[in-house]
Amino acid sequence: MKVVKFGGSSLADAASFRKVIDIVHADKNRRYVVDSAPGKRGDGDEKVTDLLYRCKRETEEGQDCASTLAFVRARFEEIANGLDIADKVQVADEFAVIEKNIKAGASADYVASRGEYLNGKLLAAALGFEFIDAAEVVRFHEDGTFDQETTNVLTSMRLEQTEYAVIPGFYGLIGTRDDDADTAGDIARIKTFSRGGSDITGSIVARAVGADAYENWTDVSGFMVADPRIIEDPARIETITYLELRELAYMGASVLHEDAIFPVRKQGIPINIRNTNDPDDEGTWIVESTAKKSRYVITGIAGKKDFCSINIEKDMMNSEIGFIRRVLQAFEDQEISVEHVPSGIDTLTVFVHQDEFIAKEQAIVSEIHRLAAPDLLEIESDLALIAVVGRGMKSTRGTAGRIFSALAHAAVNVRMIDQGSSELNIIIGVETRDFEKAIRAIYDIFVTTQI
Ligand code: ASP
Repeated sequence: MKVVKFGGSSLADAASFRKVIDIVHADKNRRYVVDSAPGKRGDGDEKVTDLLYRCKRETEEGQDCASTLAFVRARFEEIANGLDIADKVQVADEFAVIEKNIKAGASADYVASRGEYLNGKLLAAALGFEFIDAAEVVRFHEDGTFDQETTNVLTSMRLEQTEYAVIPGFYGLIGTRDDDADTAGDIARIKTFSRGGSDITGSIVARAVGADAYENWTDVSGFMVADPRIIEDPARIETITYLELRELAYMGASVLHEDAIFPVRKQGIPINIRNTNDPDDEGTWIVESTAKKSRYVITGIAGKKDFCSINIEKDMMNSEIGFIRRVLQAFEDQEISVEHVPSGIDTLTVFVHQDEFIAKEQAIVSEIHRLAAPDLLEIESDLALIAVVGRGMKSTRGTAGRIFSALAHAAVNVRMIDQGSSELNIIIGVETRDFEKAIRAIYDIFVTTQI
């Protein structure tokens, strides 16, 4: 049994809906479908979720949101008419309710959630599946955090009663539901996940029904070894472990919402990222563990710009107990998250995000002086970090050697090296202006020269 989730670009208009319908009908094991709101139909277009947030803003600012709402409505009508299901879903009536609720001061979460809700109704009608409102099965605690236990029980109980269903992504309900669905009480308690959160709903449903796989359909064929904005037509990652993905996602590689991993990971349910525009492509498999070797020694490369380093020196630092703690205390007190802390015998470097650090820079510097009395403190900006990630690195000799000789040949000056204890990644600090050049050099040595 498979749970399938379709992103906004896969459900943007009637034409893309048709592809989705074919995909779902092509495999009878695709039994539970989670949808996003209609996304962009091309460059310059807007996502329905963004338009709905705009409606809410306009209302709050005392403006009339009618024209924005009419725009949203036209998008749903195009889908309903294009698929010949206008008699099954009364889009006009749905919008009358939404408009009334907006005017009555419904929350931003409620307004935004209507994109998934209505798209789910349309998709269910088009597929001939049952529609199950996420407010019925997805629950949040009163403090707004996700209530995993209740959700899991409600979802699995509800889905046991139905063989084929569509469940909208992105939202649920705080607390318990009133018997009379869609009451004013419900509307006030609709809550969304963070942006991109339909991925999480898909994962929740996959866990609740004990799916064999969670297929996440989007507009790319999975994860690429490197960012396509830097490497033209990069190789695809066939299989990646959850841990590797975490490393790459942390460094900015994004296809899937980060929180979508947790519900399925512990259950050993693999996630398969697939491309709606190329359904025959196997995409990328995200798994807990695998005996499959990556095609290349490395699984992926990702990186982020705009880091700062605070370089600290002190004679006999190595024998001064508590020195590192005192330095880090200064960052903690100012609520700055520390990214990496490579150290030498009498030196210590702290990497932080430049934008967070700059506002509090002088407070931190003076606190480090006060707490740790270093001999020298120096700040460097415009640094980038690159993570080379691969489960195969542990058992392969010479990976670090190849990375650094490639960087040397490309005339990239390496400013920092950090190998995680799991040997799953090597993190390299370079100057921001060398960022793209460094990624290309690493990609070439591990991928291009192997093809
Ligand atoms: N529609 C929501 C968003 O744009 C959720 C999602 O697509 O996953 O963030």
